Amino acid sequence: MKKYAVIVVDMVNDFVTGVIAHPRIKNIIEPIRELLEKARAAGVPVFYANDSHTPEIDKEFKVWGPHAVEGTWGAEVIDELKPQPGDVLVPKKTYSGFFQTPLELDLREKGVDTVIITGWQADCCCRHTSADAFFRGFDIVVPRETTDTLTEEDRDRGLDYIKNIYGGTICSLKDLPFWK
Ligand code: ZN
Repeated sequence: MKKYAVIVVDMVNDFVTGVIAHPRIKNIIEPIRELLEKARAAGVPVFYANDSHTPEIDKEFKVWGPHAVEGTWGAEVIDELKPQPGDVLVPKKTYSGFFQTPLELDLREKGVDTVIITGWQADCCCRHTSADAFFRGFDIVVPRETTDTLTEEDRDRGLDYIKNIYGGTICSLKDLPFWK
């Protein structure tokens, strides 16, 4: 029996309605909301891997400009997906939810062996988080309704990469064993 956790990547205000908002992110809010509801009901732990950047230091600003600065509204999870008691917030400073964060330890403490990776963007932070999950021996599942990126082609390329290189299972929400 697999032990799942859901990881929600970068569903914070700056990516949805703030400084680097993109309209395609709106497509994944409702599917993620439904997933979180069912996951919590099934006792599947929920983690949020959120950009939380330090101005003047974090290299990402060279690529994307300032966004999701720690302690600001832009770095808070959107209201629609508000964390609930028991959920775990994992602030991150790079694309990967694992890089220099307690995420791996927290997952192991909960006995998790399979991570359901969701959020923004399929070909960047979700892909890099998948890489680090793979390196650490976690199995990866990505429900395709729950991630997207700037274009459909880039999303499909991101999902293909996760499948072909990290052995991820790309599925539909209704394929999840706790989806009823
Ligand atoms: Zn960032």
